[in-house]
Amino acid sequence: MALRLYNTMSSQIEEFRTLRDSEVRMYACGPTVYDYGHIGNFRTFIAVDLLRRFLKQSGYKVQHVMNITDVDDKIIRNSARDAVTVQQYTAKYEKAFLEDSAMIGIEQPTLVRATEHIEDMADFVQKLVDKGIAYRADDGSYYFRIAKFPEYGKLSKKDFSSMLDGARVDVDEYDKDSARDFALWKAPKPGEAFWETKIGTGRPGWHLECSVMSMEELGESFDLHAGGEDLIFPHHENEIAQSESMTGKPFAHFWFHARFLLVEGEKMSKSLGNFFTLRDLVLKGHKPSSLRYLLTSVPYRNQLNFTFDGLKQAAVSVERLRNFRLRLTAGNFAPGSTPEIQTLASDAVSKMRAALEDDLNTAQAQAAVFEMVRQANTAFDSGSLKKDDVPPLLSALAKFDEIFAVLEDDDAAKMQRVLEWAMAESREKDITPELRDAVRSAQLSDGAVESKIDEMKAARTARDFKKSDAIRAELADAGILVEITKDGIRWRRK
Ligand code: AMP
Ligand code: ZN
Repeated sequence: MALRLYNTMSSQIEEFRTLRDSEVRMYACGPTVYDYGHIGNFRTFIAVDLLRRFLKQSGYKVQHVMNITDVDDKIIRNSARDAVTVQQYTAKYEKAFLEDSAMIGIEQPTLVRATEHIEDMADFVQKLVDKGIAYRADDGSYYFRIAKFPEYGKLSKKDFSSMLDGARVDVDEYDKDSARDFALWKAPKPGEAFWETKIGTGRPGWHLECSVMSMEELGESFDLHAGGEDLIFPHHENEIAQSESMTGKPFAHFWFHARFLLVEGEKMSKSLGNFFTLRDLVLKGHKPSSLRYLLTSVPYRNQLNFTFDGLKQAAVSVERLRNFRLRLTAGNFAPGSTPEIQTLASDAVSKMRAALEDDLNTAQAQAAVFEMVRQANTAFDSGSLKKDDVPPLLSALAKFDEIFAVLEDDDAAKMQRVLEWAMAESREKDITPELRDAVRSAQLSDGAVESKIDEMKAARTARDFKKSDAIRAELADAGILVEITKDGIRWRRK
């Protein structure tokens, strides 16, 4: 089987074919670094990360480029407001974006920054002017004349046949249905940052950045272009118009768009109080692995409704997978093997891959692995899981984790860094007791907890219940719950 993927351009699920053998060249629109990234942004970035990881697992060499939009209207406005340079303003948020991406398990693409390609963008505009496709307005801004690109609207399936030639729009984002000539290059308004270039002073428009940098890195035609669904129009439509009228060749062959995320059934917005950055959620004590798991659990073209119940459920799922792996690595098994278990492991991998080949059906891929875990746990409990069954099960889990990346238990260290960041930003009031507990509990290694438990047992044997209770309280303070049962003492982290 081969990967089948929905292509926004054809409005169909198609077999994914690449222009070059076994090599994928893909471009994803990255963040505008004027603030911390929110969970909607990361829903899209994780969908792209998952695609990248699955392509790699399928044997492709993947060239994955992402831009950092480090100049746009909002950035110019905010940096002027704060009286800092554009560079100073964006550096902090670019760093935060990279930290957050790593925190949530995103493999880093090749990054390209708009401000490092200003001359190339000016060149591009000049060439479009020479071809009679772009024109200069009186204020020194340049516009793309969409009447010169009859296919305008082919991605968003909008009909612009009755458009007004020469009507213009100079903002980067607009959602009007009527097409307008859009700004390629913007002349500076008083007090705004600008660059001196061969086409005059000013700054590039957002759409131009992606056309220029994607083709520079990946060639005039490449395999796949990705972003959230809001980018279909005007951003990607405009990228296509610019690029294809420049080269006369098809720009990207596949257009991959992730559906917008909702929060508790509503559009995320600051005014509704349901707007969350990744850091907001970690400050509330949620683990990065739970967030990653939740954001991958709904296939990228389905509506993902983010809820706190869903997040708790995701944490339980990750815990179950980690515990299963721990059982396999720490358990004592009788020698030999059980053929059904071997089949169980290889079937789970086949089912997982088949689900992902079906337009990245992540929900089914996860279900396939959970079914394996359930059946293997039953076999474990009944003693029919043997020593030689362990490697195939572990290898199935590893295949799963190459894509979903939640098994490594590194949440506490990541949460600790968010806690330190909050202190450094004087945001102590946002640090919840849940986050403090999670960080504190991780400071006690499993070995250290075990030796405290041994001390507790010894104290109880000596009927020194006062000492036993003191140790129990000490562990509770460190976020360790101790349960005393008739079968002995059990513990777990809160
Ligand atoms: P921005 O930083 O606004 O340029 O957005 C970066 C990426 O996040 C783009 O691909 C957007 O389409 C995507 N995005 C923004 N909001 C959401 C959302 N609520 N759900 C999914 N993707 C989003
Ligand atoms: Zn873009």
